[in-house]
Amino acid sequence: MHNHCWVDVKEPSRAEPSRSGYRTAIGLVFYIRKVSSPLSIQPVSTRLTKERHIYKGSEVRLSRIQLNMEGALTARDRVGIQDFVLLDSYTSESAFLDNLRKRFRENLIYTYIGTLLVSVNPYKDLEIYTPKQMEIYMGVNFFELPPHLYALADNAYRTMLTEYNNHFILISGESGAGKTEASKKILQYYAVTCPCTEQLQTVRDRLLLSNPVLEAFGNAKTLRNDNSSRFGKYMDIQFDFKGAAVGGHILSYLLEKSRVVHQNHGERNFHIFYQLVEGGEEELLRWLGLERNCQHYSYLVQGECAKVSSINDKSNWRTVRKALSVIDFNENDIEHLFGIIASVLHLGNIQYDADNKGSAVIGNNAEVRWISKLLGVSVLVLQEALTHRKIETRAEEVLSPLNVDQAYYARDALAKAIYGRTFTWLVNKINESLANQDPSRKTVIGLLDIYGFEVFYINSFEQFCINYCNEKLQQLFIQLTLKSEQEEYELEGIEWEPVQYFNNKIICDLVEEKYRGIISVLDEECLRLGGATDLTFLEKLEETVGNHPHFVTHKLANQKTRKTLERGDFRLLHYAGEVTYCVIGFLDKNNDLLYRNIKEVMCKSRNLIVKQCFMPSELDSRKRPETVATQFKSSLVGLIKILTAKEPSYVRCLKPNDGKQAGRFDDVLVRHQVKYLGLMEHLRVRRAGFAYRRRYEIFLQRYKSLCPDTWPHWRGPPAEGVERLVKYIGYKPDEYKQGRTKIFIRYPRTLFATEDAFQI
Ligand code: ATP
Ligand code: MG
Repeated sequence: MHNHCWVDVKEPSRAEPSRSGYRTAIGLVFYIRKVSSPLSIQPVSTRLTKERHIYKGSEVRLSRIQLNMEGALTARDRVGIQDFVLLDSYTSESAFLDNLRKRFRENLIYTYIGTLLVSVNPYKDLEIYTPKQMEIYMGVNFFELPPHLYALADNAYRTMLTEYNNHFILISGESGAGKTEASKKILQYYAVTCPCTEQLQTVRDRLLLSNPVLEAFGNAKTLRNDNSSRFGKYMDIQFDFKGAAVGGHILSYLLEKSRVVHQNHGERNFHIFYQLVEGGEEELLRWLGLERNCQHYSYLVQGECAKVSSINDKSNWRTVRKALSVIDFNENDIEHLFGIIASVLHLGNIQYDADNKGSAVIGNNAEVRWISKLLGVSVLVLQEALTHRKIETRAEEVLSPLNVDQAYYARDALAKAIYGRTFTWLVNKINESLANQDPSRKTVIGLLDIYGFEVFYINSFEQFCINYCNEKLQQLFIQLTLKSEQEEYELEGIEWEPVQYFNNKIICDLVEEKYRGIISVLDEECLRLGGATDLTFLEKLEETVGNHPHFVTHKLANQKTRKTLERGDFRLLHYAGEVTYCVIGFLDKNNDLLYRNIKEVMCKSRNLIVKQCFMPSELDSRKRPETVATQFKSSLVGLIKILTAKEPSYVRCLKPNDGKQAGRFDDVLVRHQVKYLGLMEHLRVRRAGFAYRRRYEIFLQRYKSLCPDTWPHWRGPPAEGVERLVKYIGYKPDEYKQGRTKIFIRYPRTLFATEDAFQI
């Protein structure tokens, strides 16, 4: 065996190892076919020759790189295969897992299935996100370098620029699998690698800094993830025709605002509260009436873990504070914003006593006074709103005192409402600062990072919404990959052996179907006057969807299952596994009522943010607001519409263990995710299918210059032109198929070679 070989490359200083050889910075690839992995290939010397060559009419300077091929042949055993499509036993789940494990052990967390990227959370910092790495992936064809998020991001970006179309990157996986980290890394990649003028630097900084702000207000520590996204986020990055990032827009989805007033054991409230208390400047805290002690605030200590070793609230505070000024928040905004955060903490500390009639009275009104100062409302009116309810009769309005439980309920409802609405305000404000001023044509890449599928010991309305959202995204994935891919082969008349897969549409329907779905039943109970409770909702569910194969309750279960279900529970068999939901609180959370007099007080607030969040128009009691679940359902329908109008790329994130530990690969856990994410089915479709397809007209338009018959014009049917063209450039029969309207290309390398030939 030779230990060294020589390859000729252009631009030697920027030559980088690729999957099967060395590639140059400007696109020429020289394959070393005998080598199976690039990782063991190291250049031992480079030497620039003075030779000049003419290649396809252009002058090319060549140099030689000496490669050390030692160990190359054993590399595959050690580091696995970087594209599952190349796996010998591609139908075996064990082989799939072996490959993933092997790579994980070598800190190779990314693997492809064709163009889909599988990522395993390493739970430790790897040196793979450096500017040097970004440079390596810039402008390089997808399969020429080891798998990376950057390759996927770069591919979407370049396709957007050449084809002038919009893209989105769907990042999915369960809670803690690494979606948010992946979306941040993609954004950083664009920020560093896209062209940027001095003028556009602010846009770039704002795009980047919107993340720490939104995470501070929308993320929290849960049992699954110390930085769990508690809202869904879809972010469009807008590019001009030169590929510079010129603006952005964020859509947020259903914030889990119940967390403001309640956290389970081992969980925290939203990060911003702890950041403010731990990191806020002395003067600021004094102005807000806060103490530097999280233990002092009842909304911060229910989970008994205000301090978390992996989180540095103090330094995160400084980051957020700086970010806010870059995103164009003036001192007034910031004052009002933290006035609200502090008010929520003060609200949580209000204690009620019962008077001799059982009505709630506020023991010590120090908190009320602070809130009144910070929100700019009258102490007396606020105090009244926190202890009374205004009831409208036909003739008059009557103030009815609340009992202690009702008063706590009203207090918590107010805390949730101001926090939730402030979050929406924050997103709008960020959007204003990201708005693109230039009206000229632009294309976008959308990044979708939404809360992942989650199962806790007790699951409530929030988990129901989050898991429903994950069902919808899984459905979209199935639609766009497994279903439409196979339908397309059929439509185009390409011979095809169908691959079976589990279609989760049945579960989406169970949740969202009109009149018969769980959300419909829930809304009906919410609208029913008198007598409706969480338990009557459960009974209605049993009547309506009781015989659905993915739904079960204590009453409907067989003996064995019954033991694992309580009477107030229903269980859904989600695509990702079973989840048992406790119905308590469903009606309340879905209604999300705020007493009218509390709204009235907020409408009069002199805090400018609160004022914008509570509009007098909502005091019109004739208009009943949509329920939370229905609003969420409509927003998801809107999201799916946005996504289906764009070209997709997929990142599937896997969680290697449940302990947030580095280096531990739990076979059972990973196997389960591989199964429910449909990765094996995806692999089978990919393996048997075609990596690329192009309409004949488009393919011909782009590459017609490569063949004398089609250049400069081809006057016959495009399909025939393409046939001439591909035969002329030497496509082998197994490399492509011709459908009714499109050419299908089996391997990416075929298209890349054509693209490279075209660019020379
Ligand atoms: P959720 O659905 O709860 O929001 P998520 O999928 O967004 O979960 P992340 O917050 O992205 O999960 O990741 C959880 C943690 O895992 C991160 O805080 C980080 O510590 C670690 N992590 C994730 N991806 C990486 C990575 N590529 N490199 C190093 N650590 C990572
Ligand atoms: Mg997240």
